[in-house]
Amino acid sequence: MIRLEEYVPIVGQSVIDDLKLIAARLKGKTIQHINSTSVGGGVAEILNRMVPLLQELGVDTRWDLIKGGEQFFEVTKKFHNALHGYSSEITKKDFEIFLETNQRNINEINTSGDIVFVHDPQPIALVKKKRDNKWIWRCHVDVSNPDEKVWSFLMDYIARYDSAVFSAPSFSRRLPIRQFLISPSIDPLSDKNKELPQDIVDAVLLKYKIPQDKPIITQISRFDRLKDPLGVIEAYQEVKKHIDCRLVLAGGGAADDPEGAMIFTQVMEKTKNDKDIHILLLAQNDIEINALQRASTVIIQKSIREGFGLTVAEALWKAKPVVASNVGGIPLQIKHKYSGLLCHSVTGAAFAIKQLLNSPVYAMKLGENGREHIRNNFLITRHLRDYILLFLSLYYPEDIVHLG
Ligand code: UDP
Repeated sequence: MIRLEEYVPIVGQSVIDDLKLIAARLKGKTIQHINSTSVGGGVAEILNRMVPLLQELGVDTRWDLIKGGEQFFEVTKKFHNALHGYSSEITKKDFEIFLETNQRNINEINTSGDIVFVHDPQPIALVKKKRDNKWIWRCHVDVSNPDEKVWSFLMDYIARYDSAVFSAPSFSRRLPIRQFLISPSIDPLSDKNKELPQDIVDAVLLKYKIPQDKPIITQISRFDRLKDPLGVIEAYQEVKKHIDCRLVLAGGGAADDPEGAMIFTQVMEKTKNDKDIHILLLAQNDIEINALQRASTVIIQKSIREGFGLTVAEALWKAKPVVASNVGGIPLQIKHKYSGLLCHSVTGAAFAIKQLLNSPVYAMKLGENGREHIRNNFLITRHLRDYILLFLSLYYPEDIVHLG
């Protein structure tokens, strides 16, 4: 169990003191997070750390999961893709399945928290159960260009919340409720991000039979079309014509993502003739991901859409040079040529990777700048402060909040 005081050497005493001060104002209130999975993906990653830290700050916090069957998660995956601007046929039946599952969860989950904090679209209709408590909808996905049919369906529910939270300015939408901009964060002391001794890093590489004889380019992501693993392979193949290197594509599935197996098969098919490509289907193991990131020469995140991209923050915190697409929340983390390199295409990604492999001093400088940028903006202590202030703001009229 990591204690708050352990963050002092990283962020300073005053940050922790401030958290205690503002958290005390929430005395007597209960916070209830609700989402659809406890493992896999960024939301689960954050809640696993956020909930115990809020509890340590004395904020009575609990975390509930909705239950859904295979059909429900197929529908929510369609919604997810549609919100990212990739529509597939969404039928009347799909909307019915979505609402039926939400109704079942309405009957099963006790939503009596003073503040009910609903994450992403999957449980969005639980707000039908809202009484005189406060409800927040937290959108983690990139909704800069959503499919209008799905968005207008969701709007009926969003409008019933007290407030909505988005991760990046470009995602904000015209809404009849207050909205907040709060970017996600990583926990520098979690198993995923803490310092690791070299022998643990070596042991993980040995376990997965990845020799450390040449530069390693890595993407850690769920096997999801929007993470563009096939594009990563093409970029690697372009780099490989000029510089000998290895590619690691590592990821597991999320419990609420039914498309993973199909994408994984496509990846295996495309890479079967190259022994320098290592495809790892990981069980949830944060130390292993940490080790793979630390063993990498360059980290890539070639997403086509991205809510925030925690993997980018994780890599930068480890002072790794990162090449990532200029989409969603990624440019909040990477200032091009300062804290990493942004790309727009396979060719651009390959060019950037080659540049970093050819210029280790430049690559190191980008990584160091990246680490400081994450320290100042994307650690969990900043995120905790923003959430506590958000909770408090629900009890004040909007004009007072605006006056600060
Ligand atoms: N992750 C993981 N295991 C995997 C793949 C990803 O633990 O097999 C983690 C990854 O390290 C990061 C989170 O899941 O912390 C993914 O968050 P991100 O914002 O990058 O993408 P999302 O999956 O939420 O779209």
